[in-house]
Amino acid sequence: GLPLSNKPYWLRQKAAQGERYDYLKAQMGGLRLATVCEEAQCPNIGECWNGGSEGIGTATIMLLGDTCTRGCRFCAVNTAQKPPAPDPLEPEHTAQAVADWGVGYVVLTSVDRDDLPDGGAEHFAKTVRTLKALKPSILIECLTPDFRGDMDAVRHLARSGLDVFAHNVETVDRLQKRVRDPRAGYIQSLEVLRAAKGCGVYTKSSIMLGLGETDDEIIDTMYDLRDAGVDILTLGQYLQPTPHHLPVAEFVTPEKFEHWRKFGEEVVGFRYVASGPLVRSSYRAGEFFVEAMIK
Ligand code: SF4
Ligand code: SF4
Repeated sequence: GLPLSNKPYWLRQKAAQGERYDYLKAQMGGLRLATVCEEAQCPNIGECWNGGSEGIGTATIMLLGDTCTRGCRFCAVNTAQKPPAPDPLEPEHTAQAVADWGVGYVVLTSVDRDDLPDGGAEHFAKTVRTLKALKPSILIECLTPDFRGDMDAVRHLARSGLDVFAHNVETVDRLQKRVRDPRAGYIQSLEVLRAAKGCGVYTKSSIMLGLGETDDEIIDTMYDLRDAGVDILTLGQYLQPTPHHLPVAEFVTPEKFEHWRKFGEEVVGFRYVASGPLVRSSYRAGEFFVEAMIK
């Protein structure tokens, strides 16, 4: 991999600022809520929490613990065959804290829990139901595992009352085995997205660029996602979390990311595409969703 000092200028950190950001940050003090935004020191926190002109701040919360039953070669999360049992009170506690906070769009995500009979689907669903009961105006996205292709689990969660069902295909078909845990797969992820779409919700997926994929493979993946009914696509630069993870094959330029955004929206037909070097699956999700879907 390329050392940090060789990173191009467009991957520099942005300062976190803004009125809404300051407000949410101040409120956090009184809440027992851990966000991925803060814990991962995400460079987008200022933009996401601020929520743009819409003021729909976006934040990401992790459910079901920090230990994954899988090991993907791009991801730095802890892994174990048998992670600690989930906290049964987490759905209520999380829902209450998010409802008490001023964020307008929340992304609930988790590690893969292949050790749980339903992969954690009901734990997610309960969090959604409780949060919607406490604060009906909040928009909820669930960024989910593949549930080992258990479509009953997928549909159970898709029908929980969430607004957006997100599941990331991560990379093109040819690179799946190299990038993701062998239990994951391209077709399985597309089928998860197709099943969720069948429940009448908005669906969303994400591809990391810079892993050695070709332009034609990116185009094929976009059409496959659209064919599975996916409404929203995000594209971001893969960054190597540690020297033990997959090296970066290429730093894709901001101009090329903009090309893919236009191509995805104007040619392939996604409702919207967020595309840029620092874009993550949840990047400014609230304001983009409101602009693209509700207006
Ligand atoms: Fe949080 Fe995701 Fe935005 Fe990063 S991109 S600040 S993790 S919502
Ligand atoms: Fe990371 Fe998700 Fe892969 Fe687990 S399944 S290692 S959390 S990317």
